[in-house]
Amino acid sequence: MSSSDDFDALAPATRGVLAGRTPEWTGTPGHPGAVVNPAVWRASTHLYPDMAALRAHPANVDGNFYYGRRGGPTQWALAEALTQLEPGAAGTVLYPSGVAAIAGVMLAVLRPGDVLLMTDNAYEPSRAMGRGLLKDFGVETRWFDPTSLASFEAACCPRTKAVLLECPGSLTMEVQDVPALTAAAKARGIVSVLDNTWASSLGFAGLSHGVDITVMSLTKHVSGHSDCMMGSASAGAEWYRKLRLRAQGLGNVVSPDDAAMMLRGLRTMKLRLDAETASALAIAQWLQSRPEVARVLCPMLPGSPGHDLWLRDFTGGCGLFSFVLKGGTSAARDALIDALGLFGIGYSWGGFESLATPVDPAPIRTASAWPLAGMEPSDQFGIRLSIGLEDTADLIADLDGALAVWAAHGDCA
Ligand SMILES: *Cc1c(COP(=O)(O)O)cnc(C)c1O
Repeated sequence: MSSSDDFDALAPATRGVLAGRTPEWTGTPGHPGAVVNPAVWRASTHLYPDMAALRAHPANVDGNFYYGRRGGPTQWALAEALTQLEPGAAGTVLYPSGVAAIAGVMLAVLRPGDVLLMTDNAYEPSRAMGRGLLKDFGVETRWFDPTSLASFEAACCPRTKAVLLECPGSLTMEVQDVPALTAAAKARGIVSVLDNTWASSLGFAGLSHGVDITVMSLTKHVSGHSDCMMGSASAGAEWYRKLRLRAQGLGNVVSPDDAAMMLRGLRTMKLRLDAETASALAIAQWLQSRPEVARVLCPMLPGSPGHDLWLRDFTGGCGLFSFVLKGGTSAARDALIDALGLFGIGYSWGGFESLATPVDPAPIRTASAWPLAGMEPSDQFGIRLSIGLEDTADLIADLDGALAVWAAHGDCA
């Protein structure tokens, strides 16, 4: 079920339409490929016609009915589609959320006494996993500066088993040199795991850049409609086998309804990502021209930190980026966000609707500086935007009005 060379040669838009639609999942007996989408195949007890069939049932292999927890055609079609979209993948394991995917991978890779290295700009629940779940299971987590190979190398020790990368990282959007980091990891026998939620496999081919296991929160771009949660991990044959067994051991299963929702979202993901990227870039450029803004943290924006690496390694972007206000206070920033009419205030991202949330990295980071180099100490207060599918000019007008509220706030005026 791995992605084939012929399929990989197709452009991302075409792969997004075709992925996972093999006759095995969309056919009826005698009519291969009879429907466009696989049916929603609910979990049920699987019956064997007789004892001989039960005894002859193949061992634990993909695509065989056995027991509801192993999934059915709807989940298999989604896993197959995600595998086909990740060049170099032999298989994909589905998890009930992105965090469950990260935890499932960590519990498959790490053993008591191991050390995990984690990029300092990782998603906060990943950091919390290092401080909590993994610590409780005897794994030590150490953090390193996302933009420094030397910081990664200095953090390595003989007990280091795995590294968790995230690129661009949450909130501050630094782009990591993934090929350099994974090469350094490989030389030391360290397993590299990438949280690839931001770019998705359409925008960044993780396994092709040396990563061993790529993880996505499907909740974001694949769903795309803020109505469904799921996570995935894709890998080559050896890691796929181990991830799958660990996920089975943990009793993971995703709902076939949600799998069908994700397959639906997947078909339009490329279009949505392209539209969000273009809109986000225009908005980032506009913000960069504003006197109230100290720094725009958007990998797609020329001149922004990490832009060169993004150009070198990525084939796409998305609508998620941050910016930092020039001075001000937390209260002034709250007033700005409250003044927005089109942006919702909420966590999560990657949906059709635009969102804004405050960004305060200082108390979270342990291995790298905030404010970033070149920023004034007073440039503390950031805002993360998830640009959705609204009209770009409407979003800019909304931000323009909110920046005026910020500038007139007693703490800024
Ligand atoms: C949201 C998010 C996750 C977690 O995904 P859930 O599906 O919400 O559990 C993981 N990594 C990143 C970078 C995210 O933004």
